[in-house]
Amino acid sequence: MRVELINTGSELLFGRVLNTHHHWLAQQLARAGYTLAHQQTVPDSGEAIQAAAREAIARAELVLITGGLGPTSDDLTRQLIAELLDLSLEEHAETRDRITAHFANRNRPMPEPVFVQAQVPVGATVLRNDHGTAPGLALPTPRGWLILLPGPPRELRPMFTQAVAPLLAEKLPPENPVTIRTLKTIGIGETTVEQSIAPALAEWIAVGLEIGYCARAGEVDVRLTASGEGAADSIAQAEAVVREKLGPQIYGVDDEQLEEILIRQLTVSGQTLAVAESCTGGLMAHRLTNVPGASAVFLAGHCTYSNEAKQNTLGVLSETLAEHGAVSEAIARQMAEGARAKHGADYALATTGIAGPEGGTAEKPIGTVFIACATPEDTEVVSARIATDRETFKQLVVQRAMNLLRLAQLP
Ligand code: ATP
Ligand code: MG
Repeated sequence: MRVELINTGSELLFGRVLNTHHHWLAQQLARAGYTLAHQQTVPDSGEAIQAAAREAIARAELVLITGGLGPTSDDLTRQLIAELLDLSLEEHAETRDRITAHFANRNRPMPEPVFVQAQVPVGATVLRNDHGTAPGLALPTPRGWLILLPGPPRELRPMFTQAVAPLLAEKLPPENPVTIRTLKTIGIGETTVEQSIAPALAEWIAVGLEIGYCARAGEVDVRLTASGEGAADSIAQAEAVVREKLGPQIYGVDDEQLEEILIRQLTVSGQTLAVAESCTGGLMAHRLTNVPGASAVFLAGHCTYSNEAKQNTLGVLSETLAEHGAVSEAIARQMAEGARAKHGADYALATTGIAGPEGGTAEKPIGTVFIACATPEDTEVVSARIATDRETFKQLVVQRAMNLLRLAQLP
């Protein structure tokens, strides 16, 4: 089965918006057993969209098109596709009612053009939009199906999960489903990962299991892929081998994020956390509070950037600052212990470092960072040198800090 994706949007071609639909949809499709054979991005012009759709429909069983379903004059996809498939448009009453309700609920005036979104090609399956006004559309084509999805990610993603995935499973089940399992590791390089696991997996590789390594900042994903009969079994067996070899260096699977793991661990153990951040500027608190249910375990986050704030908020001592400087093991320790005591938390994490591009010295070069993890037993402080851009620096430091607590929490 051939699967193609067409992303519409001149803003994608100008480089103003990153094409996250390509990335996200390819992942979701792969997980459901479909592999993209082709992807293209086309501008919001009638000709380009129609030409791309015409070619894709002629050679692929499944074609997805994103964007251009809105009410403005550059949103042409619905009209163009109806024209291409020689279908007339008719009003979909339920969608009209939903659009009316959408505006009424928000107490906003309803300009007439919004109802263009209720016009659907005859014979289309309408995919309800729970987060906006333009519904998605599924249309039968001579070879299979054409799916139109709205541009905004917060509309497209739930629509794909709730409506498109079940529709595909029913109407166009994958021929040779591929099973993929990703094991996420932290703190080891990709060569070491490979050397530790590849020899032990030889027997599964011989029967068709594929191993992929994807190195990201500070982390390596091990991707196990298999298809056909027995795929799930051989992946489960291979996963057991990888887990035996890498142990606690595996922190999660598939899409799991470190912050989700931490919040889950703390929830299970009924323990609490506070954080004191300097060089990470609140990123750690941000990521932890992105996790639903964080309020059960996350007590407080302080972004204490100045020496005064570290002293006033966390009780860091001026003598220690004078003797060791703000970027030091002693200060990281006092920050974590101060935050833990202030909030009566079981655990506290603290970060202090020099993100650069200025501020380095011979003794403490740019990238120097101290990360502390205060627990009911003791306080561990690790130091590292992470010389990179400021944003990556923050990401990496937060990742290491959270990992420190994850490991401290392990039985
Ligand atoms: P709207 O009703 O908002 O106009 P639409 O279905 O017409 O939605 P577009 O106008 O093409 O969709 O895109 C709306 C917004 O969605 C864009 O401004 C962009 O921010 C985002 N968007 C569109 N396509 C993509 C994409 N491929 N990746 C990431 N974001 C996208
Ligand atoms: Mg639009």
